[in-house]
Amino acid sequence: MVTGCTYLQQGGILSRGFAEEHRLQQSAQPTDELDKKYGIWHTIFVPHVDIHDRQGQTKAPNLFGPVLFVLDLEVLLRLPPGAEALVTKRSPAYWYDTEPDSARWFQNAEEVAQNLSPDEIHKMPAIQIPSGKLDFPNRRARIILDDPQRQLQSGENAYTHAEARLRAAAAQGKIEVSIERRKCQVGCACTSKYATWSTPVIDFYFG
Ligand SMILES: [Zn+2]
Repeated sequence: MVTGCTYLQQGGILSRGFAEEHRLQQSAQPTDELDKKYGIWHTIFVPHVDIHDRQGQTKAPNLFGPVLFVLDLEVLLRLPPGAEALVTKRSPAYWYDTEPDSARWFQNAEEVAQNLSPDEIHKMPAIQIPSGKLDFPNRRARIILDDPQRQLQSGENAYTHAEARLRAAAAQGKIEVSIERRKCQVGCACTSKYATWSTPVIDFYFG
């Protein structure tokens, strides 16, 4: 939630490193230490898979957070000068310290075309931009937000609160935002998962 608000205030998707250097607020992520270790702290990862949707099979909400920014594929065609689009062969969580770059990243577009399918959650597109920031095209952002059907510590509905915070952040960043309540696939277990989370955890993700 904090990270999503920062993106809206800043007008684009930020690398973890950019946000840190500019002393912007972002939530800690389980992958932060790995990102630093492997030199991808300034890389913007743009999963091509909706992890929440995909996790209908493994029964859990996306632990990176309930705010999904949806980008048009067109973004890749309009990258600023000096930017590079890359795809990992495996998630950095499964990289080895000693392996060469060629084991981590696909080396050309043909390799990507042959190996990247819509189901591949662990092969991840990424963008490296000199500025560290991927601007929202035309200052417009589209968000899909989970509704955990829970209350915050304050007693406020988590979804209502989160939506209002995102809208306020968008207004600060002069971003036109559309926010949709997530419609889950049949069999998605997120509601029952969210029901088991403690209130402080709900506050962390939606507060
Ligand atoms: Zn769901």
